[in-house]
Amino acid sequence: MKDLVVAIDGPAGAGKTTVSKIVANKLGIDYCDSGSCYRAICYLALSCGIDPFSSNLLSLLSEKELILDSGKVFVDSQDLTPHLREPDVSANVSIVAANPEVRRYVTNLLISQKRKKGLVIEGRDIGTAIFPETPFKFYLDAHISIRKERRQGEAIEERDKIDSERKTAPLIRPDDALLIDTENLSSHEVADRILERVRFILRKNRFYWVAQRIVASFFKIFFRYSVLGAENIPKQGSLIVASNHMSFLDPPVIGVAMELHYFAKEELFLLPVFGWLIKNLNAFPVQREGFSRKAIEQTIRILENSGRVLIFPEGTRGVGLREPKRGIGLIARLANKKIRTPILPLRISGTEKALARGAWIIKPHKIKVAIGRPIQPETFFKKNDQEIANMVMEEIAKL
Ligand code: C5P
Repeated sequence: MKDLVVAIDGPAGAGKTTVSKIVANKLGIDYCDSGSCYRAICYLALSCGIDPFSSNLLSLLSEKELILDSGKVFVDSQDLTPHLREPDVSANVSIVAANPEVRRYVTNLLISQKRKKGLVIEGRDIGTAIFPETPFKFYLDAHISIRKERRQGEAIEERDKIDSERKTAPLIRPDDALLIDTENLSSHEVADRILERVRFILRKNRFYWVAQRIVASFFKIFFRYSVLGAENIPKQGSLIVASNHMSFLDPPVIGVAMELHYFAKEELFLLPVFGWLIKNLNAFPVQREGFSRKAIEQTIRILENSGRVLIFPEGTRGVGLREPKRGIGLIARLANKKIRTPILPLRISGTEKALARGAWIIKPHKIKVAIGRPIQPETFFKKNDQEIANMVMEEIAKL
């Protein structure tokens, strides 16, 4: 837990403070409001009669030290917290926060905080500049009219503009952060969504881990199983794994190369042993009619949680490479609205012989998995669903 850093960014009035406190509380870890550091420096400048535009703001702190403790900000043991939300401070804080020296000072202060527990930290640049390596990034947002309503009397638009246009660490959505629109959600609902993803990432499926090793040994002996291009598998983050599909052996063959989530027909979960087995091997149920709306939503939810989902663009099993259905394009497009989700192309060979369609007995035929480079979202942003699907099949064909 000590290394757990939950980064919550977003513009003013998006609901970060209330949500961050709930999340910190439920996880039993610390909470930090990085904005309070900029507010404290702004307050000090104003109370000393220094222009917030002055480039020399740090001279204020030459003999003083800013201390963060239990969600409060102190200078020379004076608690500045009660002054931080004064209208003058709110009106000038973004100008102070645009000063590169001030940003450097606050960044160092935030990074060097000693941590006994994990941390939920909110701000504008947490996921991009302060803790860019954390996998627990969130970006809260809401329509400007809603945010203005929440922060009546504050010049939200001007602050947004200064925050997002400044040169040093501007407010931008880190693309590996999960975007949450807080407009129609209560603070507790937003916090629950964050907690769901944090727990999903933290969760270790030991059963999968053990099964993966046992099955891999069997595959190596029986099928002379080999994987090419394993270095192309991203270390973390949401991922759609797209493969050709020829046999019932394909899901375990790919699932041995990397931990995956995959959908299976609802009825399979009712089978006594098999149902339990696939559930514990990360399968999730979908309705029989094929790729229903619910199945798409479930798939996107797993991707939003930074899961890896296996999709066969061609739909059903068949021989050779075939025309893809548009489903994979739809999922990739929708998932990328909320979180960066590349597509990993992968080509299997040999399973069509090892367990052909209609066959019941496996044969010891060589099975090979070739993994290509991830297709980055920038390359398909402007394409429609079918074009994305075609592009994925073309990449699979090259392997
Ligand atoms: O979060 P809060 O509204 O208290 O932040 C006040 C101001 O501090 C923001 O408008 C922004 O200008 C600045 N800020 C920042 N980077 C952060 C946190 C806050 O620039 N990480």
